Amino acid sequence: MAPDDTRRDVAFADNTIGEEEAAAVSAVLRSGWLSADREVRAFEEEFAAAAGSADAVFVSSGTAALHLAVLALDLRSGDEVIMPSLSFVSAAAVCALHGVVPVFADIESVADLTVSVSDVERLITPRTRAIVVMHYGGHPAHIEEFVALARRHGLRVIEDAAHAPLVSRPGGMLGTIGDIGCFSFFATKNMTTGEGGMVLAKQPAVLARVRSMRSHCIDGSSRSRTASGSAGYDIASAGLNYRPTELAAAIGRVQLAKLDKDRARRRDLVSTYHRALVGIAELEVPFASRADDSAAHHLLPVLLPRGHHRDRVRNRLRSVGVPTSVHYPPTHLMTYYRHGAPEAHGLREATVGLEHLPHTEAVADRLLSLPLHAKLDTSDAGYVADRLAEALAAEEAGA
Ligand SMILES: *Cc1c(COP(=O)(O)O)cnc(C)c1O
Repeated sequence: MAPDDTRRDVAFADNTIGEEEAAAVSAVLRSGWLSADREVRAFEEEFAAAAGSADAVFVSSGTAALHLAVLALDLRSGDEVIMPSLSFVSAAAVCALHGVVPVFADIESVADLTVSVSDVERLITPRTRAIVVMHYGGHPAHIEEFVALARRHGLRVIEDAAHAPLVSRPGGMLGTIGDIGCFSFFATKNMTTGEGGMVLAKQPAVLARVRSMRSHCIDGSSRSRTASGSAGYDIASAGLNYRPTELAAAIGRVQLAKLDKDRARRRDLVSTYHRALVGIAELEVPFASRADDSAAHHLLPVLLPRGHHRDRVRNRLRSVGVPTSVHYPPTHLMTYYRHGAPEAHGLREATVGLEHLPHTEAVADRLLSLPLHAKLDTSDAGYVADRLAEALAAEEAGA
């Protein structure tokens, strides 16, 4: 081995939390009030301003954001919502729990892992009420085409922008182009609050419903009731407690301010990766041909050459300090959804989970996500690419 190849321990994901976040959290701890209040409001205002949106609602997770979207858009038992199978299960789960049938659509192609416009169109029925558009890995899905398709069919568009905070398009930021946009600040996302999510909505009435349902649909805040000594309150509708903490908001405000710099770092790393990976025979790199500087680069997915045993390749990589992941095992093949999501069962027979999604199924066993985060060293990207090339060569040789 050349000296440059000495064994490293690369982190798959990491965050940029540092002293500034620690100081902000410490100030909240000393302030005497920890539940949602001024910091939360300030974070919402700053996020909304950055996204070019009139307002925003900070919630306790990205899943909570999607759940509130389903409720605020008044999706009901028997309604169908079309969404990508190649995504995290949150959107499917919050639908299924309400008897709303998740209908899974294919991806565009092996080069573009975002949800396919033509496949979504194929799946529209008289029961379809909404489309969930997920911006895979921070790469914009064909959101403008989805909005046009939805308009023609009278459907709502939910953007699952968990991977894509503050990504601009000609028509505005992702999450502001559909009816409602949902973000996640989970620990591994582009910006984090530990746990957290944000909701944006086109119609103020929809966002008002999200805000109300976030906190029991109760009138006024707990702090203002405490301050005024008022004992009474009224409930206009059924709601939840999806409030975030002041601590999370304080972290989020600092993370938001760091997002541009962190993104530039991710973009540089992706360029380095692309240059290094291009030499690996038969390895395909989705999105590599998109000259798309504004993408959030949450993930770096590659497709292993056909016929390789992914688990073996992953084990080889792990043994040389390179952790990897898979985004995602297709939802339509999961036990629960394969059986048509029992809570939603009978609404569209079991065919719902049994759609054949050829592109998704073709990439399912080949997908591999490589380490990518703003604290990764440029030389680490080279190290990862070299180890991947070696692992594939060793597999080829049957070693
Ligand atoms: C992370 C993620 C979610 C869920 O967000 P949480 O904050 O973890 O609840 C939803 N959809 C996608 C695509 C995600 O990556």
